Amino acid sequence: MKSRQTNAGLKILIFLCVLCASVVNGFSLDREAFSITNYDLNLQIEPEQHRLGVRGKITLRNDSQSPQKIAVLQISSSLDWRAIKAGDKPLQFVTQPYTSDMDHTGGLSEAIVTLPQVVAPKGTIELEIGYEGVILLDATRLIRIDTPEEAATSTDWDQIDTTFTAVRGAGYVAWYPIATEVANLSEGNSLFEVLARWKSREAGSTMHLRLAMSVAFQAEPQTVFNGINCIPTKKDRMEAVRDCVPQLLRLDAPTLVMADYQILERPAIEVHYLHGHDVAAANFADAAEKIVPLITEWFGPQREKAKTADLPDPHAAPFESGALLLMPLASGDAKLDGLAAAHQLTHAAFLSFRPWIEEGLAHFAQALYLEREKGRPTALEYMGQHRFALSEVREQTSAPRSEDEVNRSLVNTISEEMYRSKAMYVWWMLRDMVGEPAVKRAIAAYRPEQDKEPSYMPHLIEAQTQRDLEWFFDDWVYRDRGLPDFKVESVFSRKTMTGTFMITITLDNLGTAAAEVPVIIKFVGGEMMRRLVVQAKNKTVIRVEVPAAPYEVVANDGSVPESDMTNNTFKIESTDK
Ligand SMILES: [Zn+2]
Repeated sequence: MKSRQTNAGLKILIFLCVLCASVVNGFSLDREAFSITNYDLNLQIEPEQHRLGVRGKITLRNDSQSPQKIAVLQISSSLDWRAIKAGDKPLQFVTQPYTSDMDHTGGLSEAIVTLPQVVAPKGTIELEIGYEGVILLDATRLIRIDTPEEAATSTDWDQIDTTFTAVRGAGYVAWYPIATEVANLSEGNSLFEVLARWKSREAGSTMHLRLAMSVAFQAEPQTVFNGINCIPTKKDRMEAVRDCVPQLLRLDAPTLVMADYQILERPAIEVHYLHGHDVAAANFADAAEKIVPLITEWFGPQREKAKTADLPDPHAAPFESGALLLMPLASGDAKLDGLAAAHQLTHAAFLSFRPWIEEGLAHFAQALYLEREKGRPTALEYMGQHRFALSEVREQTSAPRSEDEVNRSLVNTISEEMYRSKAMYVWWMLRDMVGEPAVKRAIAAYRPEQDKEPSYMPHLIEAQTQRDLEWFFDDWVYRDRGLPDFKVESVFSRKTMTGTFMITITLDNLGTAAAEVPVIIKFVGGEMMRRLVVQAKNKTVIRVEVPAAPYEVVANDGSVPESDMTNNTFKIESTDK
């Protein structure tokens, strides 16, 4: 009797669970279950109406662990779904607005599509889609988090217009379908996390565009799509058609720009500039051409031509997508051209799907450029501006929590401060530690298609040197251990029999990451430098002989980011001169 009761109870329990499961399946959507691996889109653009109409095909791949019968497709909230079909059969779908900052309007038009059959994990399905609407200048998502209007429109400058059309894709304007969970600009890194997940899911996807424009542009527009120029295939009184060849997407969102551009062609770079900006364009191209030898020396010959496209709003925030750089040429400070070009040319020469390598090296190249032009102190000063961003990230003296150590490590982080600023320092420190030739050889040996493990690049560097660098990669690359904090604890100086001075320096690292740091000893008539490895929460003592009376010891010339630079100088008060 008792056992029958238990069985009945068990049955009810199982039934309830089944019920729960079906309720859950019915109401919670896995918006990121599918990735879109191929886009084949026909775009109809009517600039005078700010209008975009799209028909085309997309391929969805089930990246989740379970079979899926429902797919979610999202486009900008200013666009509307018209049709979704599979194998010529219209599919059932419901549309709803979905609040998300993945789009400049702060919202997406979401289609919840019932697929004709269940798609197994790793399985794919091709859909025919149609949607249309307008894309106007819209900074809603920024204004609702209290960004001043002018700054907001200079940041979210995407629009379709007769003089200038630019749509930057996922993270700015969802002009092609995406499938993402909610992103919220007022919640820390939320947008960057959603965008980073989208980019890594879509890495390796392809996009082929066929572009038809009603001829209402003030002049025949030049079209740039993710760094490629679209090829005109037809032109008559009614429309101009262009073909944007399929290409493998990098870790960038597909971006489309059209304007009445003039083109300045140079061997390494192509500058698309707006009317009246020819001097600025020539200056930029000159600055870029001058840097090519430095970039080639470090990162090899260019894989593709760098492209720069002008933005009409002189205050517009620059935007990069691989080797394509969008920036307002006219407002440019010519002194900064070289800095921008060094970054862009690095992307044109070197490719990695790991942001700390891809972006870290591009920022490192900017510091290399400044060092070559103006010397090491100028480069260190430039890096110092990044250090500020870095120490803003966190209360520095406390060690990160253990899960953050992994999540925020250079190999996993989605934080720009980390994969741009910190990574730049890491490359600079590596060069200081193992020497320029070793780092250059490691970079030359790098093959993006062979980079399957986070340790791939560290191993390439270790293979070029006798030094054990595991401690360095542990504290700076595989984990986020925060920053070091050097303090010159004591300096003792003693005159020797021969008239030189023997000094003993105790250097403390109060911080949470180990580093090799330069120590500069200043003496009457000169200075001397030694490099010292100091482990976290540890101290190291060195003895140095200097030819004349020492008066000051300084730890760190600025090449190692640390949390507190105020305790790095030690004045030697009384030396037996
Ligand atoms: Zn970059």
